[in-house]
Amino acid sequence: MAKRIALIAHDNMKPTIIEWCDKNKEILSHHFLCGTGTTAKKINQATNLPVKAYLSGPLGGDQQIGAKVAGGEIDIIIFFSDPLTAMPHDPDVKALLRIAQVYDIPIANNKATADCILKALDQIEQ
Ligand code: PGA
Repeated sequence: MAKRIALIAHDNMKPTIIEWCDKNKEILSHHFLCGTGTTAKKINQATNLPVKAYLSGPLGGDQQIGAKVAGGEIDIIIFFSDPLTAMPHDPDVKALLRIAQVYDIPIANNKATADCILKALDQIEQ
């Protein structure tokens, strides 16, 4: 069954998420994708996958996705946060992590975890 997957990456991690989406394009194409503004746009440009864009993260995109989680409209979050750079919207990032925990939503913050989630998804589908 198609899942609703949110894709988010901080600036230094955007090449990583684009590469990951490109590598997993076939599987991802069976699901509904959305993401924070810049991440969504860049993934779409690089891979042609349709990705619904919310606002840019620092302008409220993380909070919009958090609200969707609370509303039961997101099944999985792939969030490649930057572990080495301070972010002005760190409170929003923490809020998203918290709400994903509250609603028991799988949330990957690195490629290894994202790979595990996708592998599981792929197996469920077979
Ligand atoms: P962006 O936001 O995709 O609009 O760059 C990501 C973030 O910084 O949370």
